[in-house]
Amino acid sequence: MARHTRGPTLSEFATLSHRRRLRFWGWGYEDEDLTPEEAGRIRASAAKAIGHAPDEIPPPVEADFDLPAPRAAAPPALAAMVSATPYDRLTHALGKSFGDVVRMRLRRIDHAPDLVAFPKTPDDVGRLLDWASSANLAVVPFGGGSSVAGGVEPDVGDSYAGSLVIDTQHMNRVVEIDRLSRAARIEAGALGPEIEAQLRPHGLTLRHFPQSFQISTLGGWIATRSGGHFASLYTHIDDFVESTTTVTPAGRLETRRLPGSGAGPSPDRMIIGSEGMLGIIVEAWMRLQDRPTHQTSASIVFSTMGQAAAAVRALTQSGLYPSNCRLLDPLEAAGNGVGDGAAAILVLGFESADHPLDAWMGRALELVADHGGAYDREAVAASLAPGAASGREGAAGQWRNAFIRMPYGRNLSVGLGMIGDTFETAITWDRFDGFYAAVRERAAKAIGEICGHSAAVSCRFTHVYPDGPAPYFSYQAVGTRDGRLEDSLAKWRDIKAATNEIVVSLGGTVTHHHAVGRDHRPGYEKQIPPLFRAALIAAKSALDPAGVMNPGVLIDPAGRKMGQTGVLGGG
Ligand SMILES: Cc1cc2nc3c(=O)[nH]c(=O)nc-3n(C[C@H](O)[C@H](O)[C@H](O)COP(=O)(O)OP(=O)(O)OC[C@H]3O[C@@H](n4cnc5c(N)ncnc54)[C@H](O)[C@@H]3O)c2cc1C
Repeated sequence: MARHTRGPTLSEFATLSHRRRLRFWGWGYEDEDLTPEEAGRIRASAAKAIGHAPDEIPPPVEADFDLPAPRAAAPPALAAMVSATPYDRLTHALGKSFGDVVRMRLRRIDHAPDLVAFPKTPDDVGRLLDWASSANLAVVPFGGGSSVAGGVEPDVGDSYAGSLVIDTQHMNRVVEIDRLSRAARIEAGALGPEIEAQLRPHGLTLRHFPQSFQISTLGGWIATRSGGHFASLYTHIDDFVESTTTVTPAGRLETRRLPGSGAGPSPDRMIIGSEGMLGIIVEAWMRLQDRPTHQTSASIVFSTMGQAAAAVRALTQSGLYPSNCRLLDPLEAAGNGVGDGAAAILVLGFESADHPLDAWMGRALELVADHGGAYDREAVAASLAPGAASGREGAAGQWRNAFIRMPYGRNLSVGLGMIGDTFETAITWDRFDGFYAAVRERAAKAIGEICGHSAAVSCRFTHVYPDGPAPYFSYQAVGTRDGRLEDSLAKWRDIKAATNEIVVSLGGTVTHHHAVGRDHRPGYEKQIPPLFRAALIAAKSALDPAGVMNPGVLIDPAGRKMGQTGVLGGG
């Protein structure tokens, strides 16, 4: 067996890879949409909440926007990779938060990028950063643009001569595979499906599956510390990063490939989660896994959330490390078409490329039964049978489908006047019970006061640790009953500010995996130790002396007056 396998060269790959056009105003590609049945269900549900069948504010077309002329022009040597077309500027003007999607329906772009660049190599990135630093252009790195935290909006204050978005989409190859160490060198602009398609012929997988998998990139995942499908053990992308290469305005920062190291503070740790404010991650060596051949799943019903949380705690502390351990509280379960609204449901799964899972699942079921969990023994036995397509049927399958289709549904529900959003956090087990009750109560009260109707807040655990869960809260509210989407936007902003404040003041983190961006800055400011902020600003000054990299994300660059950026502070 060859130790290292080379991926395709740049020119070979150019002929293999073809990207579909992204929908500039919402989630997905231009050539995909909801089915008529899905659209019908969303319209019926909006009509029920609003009290009458609302007219849809139609999605925008390019001609609806009158973008200001670009304030900068690329030097001739770089012009071939830089675009100022309306489609490119619109597609890179906002991310995909509720506030972003509603602003698109309002035809309101507050911070259109002046230019968008599409480099093909790390050297191209270096040349673009040299130019931006000398021309005082703010640089916004862009992967899939799926940020829900204002990470890609060029909302950079007024001290820059213009803004340049750098889109990594042409750097999307798996360049090299080290089969022996089970790792691959992958370019940062590769989307989830592009990574898996290139690894599959080698029997390998990265197995990092955020809900946005389809339209988010390796570089974006590393830059935001994204959270994937694995509910325990491997949670954040961090767990899979072996080394990184980042092009910064001060030069290239390449870390050493090591399975582990105790040599001082980790340089990768500085890059992972830096959200584009230190430089552009151009590639990373990633730890891989063999494709699983054994999978099993079970749905476990609990009559109270307290029992269910205790069962999950026992599981996380057992050393079993289930690949899936999603606890849906009663409201969340019902909202996903699973359960009757009275029971909490745990979707539990194990997978392995090495061994049958009967023993793991058997012990996990003993633990959940000790805490009052009930399950269908025959369904579990069937999922353990050889060849069972487990995880795709029953409550697990239903939940998974609803999960993947959600962002497509939001494209429509926003235009009908509904607000639907989530906020996520993490908390230690010793504080969980009070935290769960207080967050739901205080958030429901805030949403009720802001929207003028009673609201319910549901919860699921996306990730679980031996010392605590990552609860993920969801709500639905009426933004407007008469097509005034400005009202939806204003209410959503108030709810966002309130929920940020609630989770942080109750001791949680402002984000477990959605990143800080610009929109979570107020909460981040409260939880970050001041000395650490000072150290981060100093690190930025060393790597980005002109302070051009993603200004306003995480921190303000030294010596720059940013004003109030972010959807909560500014425009
Ligand atoms: C429907 C939906 C579901 C989601 N589900 C999840 C989920 O399950 N788990 C999760 O963690 N997140 C989720 N997110 C949030 C988002 O997908 C993640 O933050 C993701 O990691 C962003 O990747 P991206 O390639 O789209 O990055 P972008 O949105 O393009 O960028 C995100 C941030 O990273 C920076 N950046 C991007 N690429 C680079 C690079 N190469 N170098 C340096 N900085 C860079 C950007 O400047 C920005 O600050 C979801 C979002 C949506 C809309």
